[in-house]
Amino acid sequence: MNILVINCGSSSLKYQLIDMNGEEVLAKGLVERIGIEGSRIKHDTTGKERVIIEEPMKDHKRALELVLEAIVDEKYGAIKSMDEIGAVGHRVVHGGEDFSSSTIIDDEVMKAIENNIELAPLHNPANIMGIEACKELMPEVPMVAVFDTAFHQTIPADNYIYALPYELYEKYKIRRYGFHGTSHKYVSQRAAEILGKDIRDLNIVTAHLGNGSSVTAVEGGKSVDTSMGFTPLEGLAMGTRSGDIDPAIIPLIMEKEGLSFEEVNQMLNKSSGVLGISGISSDFRDLEIAADEGNQRAKLALEVFANRVKKYIAAYAAQMCRIDVLVFTAGIGENSASMRELICDGLECLNIIIDKELNEQASGKEAIISKNIGGVTIMVIPTNEELMIARDTLELVQNR
Ligand code: AMP
Repeated sequence: MNILVINCGSSSLKYQLIDMNGEEVLAKGLVERIGIEGSRIKHDTTGKERVIIEEPMKDHKRALELVLEAIVDEKYGAIKSMDEIGAVGHRVVHGGEDFSSSTIIDDEVMKAIENNIELAPLHNPANIMGIEACKELMPEVPMVAVFDTAFHQTIPADNYIYALPYELYEKYKIRRYGFHGTSHKYVSQRAAEILGKDIRDLNIVTAHLGNGSSVTAVEGGKSVDTSMGFTPLEGLAMGTRSGDIDPAIIPLIMEKEGLSFEEVNQMLNKSSGVLGISGISSDFRDLEIAADEGNQRAKLALEVFANRVKKYIAAYAAQMCRIDVLVFTAGIGENSASMRELICDGLECLNIIIDKELNEQASGKEAIISKNIGGVTIMVIPTNEELMIARDTLELVQNR
């Protein structure tokens, strides 16, 4: 069966068409600037040259129409007709407490996703637009919602409840939800597969380090704690997000700098993290170059980032009593050998011992990078959220 995977942002749409016999990507692409002047699609069919389609797209429905046209195009398409699409898998950011696994989309599910808009006001509305557009254009094709939060619904209450008045949880569902769930699930399952072990016998720490970053403790295949919280702002220092800070800092800077809630929110999300510390960039490639050239603040930003990751790894080692596997994934985790080394440096007390040579050679592909002396197996595993979404979609549609 061919499955179309859709990931909608407010003005963007990423897609992949995957043939599930062999899990082969047939086509993929990115639509940018939906509803804004200069809309375009970058479309790649496997084995063919990239095409750029520049056309006005007033909304997600028009964007999707053009994507479907591209997919079945005689010259640069991947399949002959839309009938060859067996199901659609949608990434949905927030499932709140309603969804602990992926689910076939029906009216009730749509209502629940809408009810969770309050928890993800920037993301869920875009995901809903994508689903609505697909429903209009392919009314007969079954659709599945795969939630970023679902994998973390196994986290126990003592890890998801904040030390705030309990009524806030009851009234507004303020609690830890966690994000990047599809990625943490994929790489933890893949780690067990590569090692030829049953995931139920493994304690794994997964470090998804990209523009947004989070670390998760996966015990026996289940998420038991994660660094992101009520929103993706909590936890690690990130490209532009502050991660954990003392909440008392917020009223103080609001008063001293005369900032509104909106402005302080913007600051914590967009101009903090390694960008805020370094004053140079949120991109780790830029920071690594600057640090090598002797820029002290770039060096400090990288060290702050590494230390925070280290703290979470150690905390999760304590929570699970032991770690068998540590996985690095996403843009930084997959590609930055120096960041992986900096993070592991000092964790020898937890039996996390990196092999510098293997680490240098590993970037961008699946690899084991620990010294083979019976300690924690350290791995690099490129994430594949689209494939995870397609797998969940196939399973649900086949078992309907
Ligand atoms: P992601 O959000 O997973 O796409 O990750 C994007 C981030 O990964 C970029 O902003 C960079 O900071 C980082 N990145 C990508 N490639 C490299 C690399 N070769 N070295 C260091 N950082 C990288």
